[in-house]
Amino acid sequence: MRELHSFGWYAKQLKEHLPKKAFRPDPGKLLGGAAYLLITAAAMLSIVLLSLPLAVNLLLSLIIGMSFAAMGFLGHEILHGTIVRSPFLRNTLGGLFFWPLCTGPRLWRKWHNMSHHVHTQHEEKDPDTWLTEAAVHRNPMLRFIYRLPLSVRAFFEFATQTVMFSLHSLRMFKTYVSEFKATSAPALWLQLILPWATWISLLFIAGVTNWIYMFLIPLLIANGIVMAYISTNHRLNPQVEINDPLANSLTVTVPKWVDVIHFHFSHHTEHHLFPAVNSKYYPLVKQKIKEYWPHLYHEMPMSKALLALWKTPRPYFDGDNLIDPSRNEVYGTLGNGLLESESAKPAKKHAQ
Ligand SMILES: [Zn+2]
Ligand SMILES: [Zn+2]
Repeated sequence: MRELHSFGWYAKQLKEHLPKKAFRPDPGKLLGGAAYLLITAAAMLSIVLLSLPLAVNLLLSLIIGMSFAAMGFLGHEILHGTIVRSPFLRNTLGGLFFWPLCTGPRLWRKWHNMSHHVHTQHEEKDPDTWLTEAAVHRNPMLRFIYRLPLSVRAFFEFATQTVMFSLHSLRMFKTYVSEFKATSAPALWLQLILPWATWISLLFIAGVTNWIYMFLIPLLIANGIVMAYISTNHRLNPQVEINDPLANSLTVTVPKWVDVIHFHFSHHTEHHLFPAVNSKYYPLVKQKIKEYWPHLYHEMPMSKALLALWKTPRPYFDGDNLIDPSRNEVYGTLGNGLLESESAKPAKKHAQ
């Protein structure tokens, strides 16, 4: 395996190529956030006040769901401190834009900024990395699931993406709640309860059918969109001891307009190199990475990454390889044989 370097090692070399303004907060992006809030409010009011045909209501659900996801990406950037500097504003606006996904700003910063970013793809310390074969072996329920055929597991893995962000967020709350000081605990609990209370209250105010169009379907869509990115950000990459973003992260490519409405969330390797840089400059970071380390950089269209995710098994066999426990077949990860064969198919080998 090649020598790994921490994200700071890469960032130090690329920093000089970025303009100073890339490191300054960009509150202008809040205009985009305001647009998403207005669109969401208008769509929700239309569902409640106008008796629209089913197809129109479904279209409005799609628009709300896409706005929920985009607001989540904006909340992510706000909580990295790239939009406003004041901690109070950062947490308030971060909480507001994560409201649809019901994730509190304090929990998010602990889970994402202080754990996922610091320990990316570390087998034990990254809360977002996939489990290992040893972990599957210890749990009878997981042992049963992972004995099912790969295509069946892939189907359920994809189907559950529509609820996975919300479920994982609740799991993260359970994981980290005990690590907060007693003085922070009330705020943490409030940030969990208030969003859910709002959406449950809406059920009684708007009625079940309207609520399904206004919140439930949009929440499933938003989960699906954010998980399409999150599941391809690292799951095809190896688990590593050193947090090397060029080894442990994948940048996916999407149409340019999607990058604009999703605040360049597709540029995930760039984000892990410079989480505190305005995401507008990630295309420039990408260009520089490709100049310096083209042989180490992983990038592919989102559709190809999702297909590779469908075709490759989980869990991790070892840091560099994945295993299909039902057939005892080992597949490489990115940089370790995956998608490097001519047919661009996952390379398989039998476990020793
Ligand atoms: Zn990540
Ligand atoms: Zn981040």
